[in-house]
Amino acid sequence: MNSSSVLCADVIIVGAGPAGSAAGFWCARAGLDALIVDMADVVLGSAELPGQGRDKTCGDGLTPRAVKALQEMDAGHLLDGHPEIRGLKLHGFGGSITAAWPATGAFPTRGSAIPRSELDLALLQHAVRAGARFVGGLKLSDATLDTPHSIRELSGTRSSGESVVVRGRHFLLAEGVRNGIARQVGVQWLRELVHGVAARSYVSTPRGDEPWIHSHLELRDDQGVAQPGYGWVFPLGADRANLGCGALATSARPAKVNTKKLLEQYATQIRGEWQCGEPELVKSALLPMGGAVSRVSGVNWATIGDSAALVNPLNGEGIDYALEAARLVVQLLPDAARNPDGLRYVWPNVLREHYGTAFSLARRLAIVLTMPGLLSAVGPLGMRGPVANQMMDAAARLMGNLVSPEDSDLTARAWRAAGGLSRGADRLLAADSRPLFGQPTR
Ligand SMILES: Cc1cc2nc3c(=O)[nH]c(=O)nc-3n(C[C@H](O)[C@H](O)[C@H](O)COP(=O)(O)OP(=O)(O)OC[C@H]3O[C@@H](n4cnc5c(N)ncnc54)[C@H](O)[C@@H]3O)c2cc1C
Repeated sequence: MNSSSVLCADVIIVGAGPAGSAAGFWCARAGLDALIVDMADVVLGSAELPGQGRDKTCGDGLTPRAVKALQEMDAGHLLDGHPEIRGLKLHGFGGSITAAWPATGAFPTRGSAIPRSELDLALLQHAVRAGARFVGGLKLSDATLDTPHSIRELSGTRSSGESVVVRGRHFLLAEGVRNGIARQVGVQWLRELVHGVAARSYVSTPRGDEPWIHSHLELRDDQGVAQPGYGWVFPLGADRANLGCGALATSARPAKVNTKKLLEQYATQIRGEWQCGEPELVKSALLPMGGAVSRVSGVNWATIGDSAALVNPLNGEGIDYALEAARLVVQLLPDAARNPDGLRYVWPNVLREHYGTAFSLARRLAIVLTMPGLLSAVGPLGMRGPVANQMMDAAARLMGNLVSPEDSDLTARAWRAAGGLSRGADRLLAADSRPLFGQPTR
């Protein structure tokens, strides 16, 4: 018979991706006893033993928003030795446009790219150094509820076969796209709204030190036929890059694309330009986006990161939102412990306050982009028209959600006004039965 054990902490964090590790860090900073659990057999490492992280299917790109979130958690040093990315180069429809990150002062003017096996291990080590505890190789599979909105305990199995029960006062579900525990407590991913399908690979290239990330809006197969989707190359330094492609979809307009095949075609398309080798470690995954989930919290639990669909629909970025949300939710825990409703109503409201305007608009624009033929119709205008450069500077800023509440320039004001209209339209179109981040405001 297998043995069993019980683990306890103030805050149980399920998942050691950016969301979980950042939550562990912020809990430790707030003096809360936090236990991060991950099913992967991550080795933290020591002076004698190098650590061993787990892989995550990702583009590995960090925009200035992510850099800022890392700096705020005193983890800016994790960027040392990694590329200093100055902005975005967009290609397609007979044009190429360079858009540097905006120098508005609200965000740093650098981005970067770090393979997730390295970044996630470094973030977890950072959390553990701050005082969080970590248990790897433990897959949590069952939630037992106290009340319909409150978790009593979680249980699971270690890689060794040992059964484990995990108890805490609060549970932060940072499980990523898998969402096994979150689904048991009623979190549904709303696929009828916009989501992403994407694949990534690693390639060798002499241009690994290029200071720009590249995105190709026009992908073609070997017969030259245009394919739905977009491609990216994120230089990783040391003669390597992350090369990937993706497409947006809704359940009404599913992405009719084999992303792994598209990735091979994309690599062939840009091989001359990048002198890249064969794509290696090709993996594909889905991306929940734009707060499109049925709920994000109960009394003593909350979802963060991909589990809360915290991915920007316009660029597929989720690392920064995972880091930011972790901080926001931890700030709520002391009050939640004293309030009978706990996190149940406050967490969706905080998410809507921070991301509602941008995600509502981004989601609407992304849905428009899933319309067949639209990109090929407007693409040439955007990439080659008389005001292409100015338009693309603004587009790169808006795609990266690099607008802060303090920004008062024309682009920022126009973006906020459009976002306000989009939220209004959400309400008028009765999307309030399915509001951003789930359950209605109380
Ligand atoms: C192809 C692709 C490209 C992308 N490119 C980018 C990009 O360039 N930049 C960017 O910012 N974002 C990108 N994203 C999005 C980004 O990868 C995610 O938003 C980000 O990883 C979310 O972090 P997380 O901590 O929420 O989840 P994850 O990083 O997925 O971490 C979840 C963790 O939970 C663990 N776990 C899950 N279930 C359990 C369980 N039951 N018990 C124990 N442990 C569990 C998993 O092992 C995992 O370690 C991309 C996504 C895809 C698919």
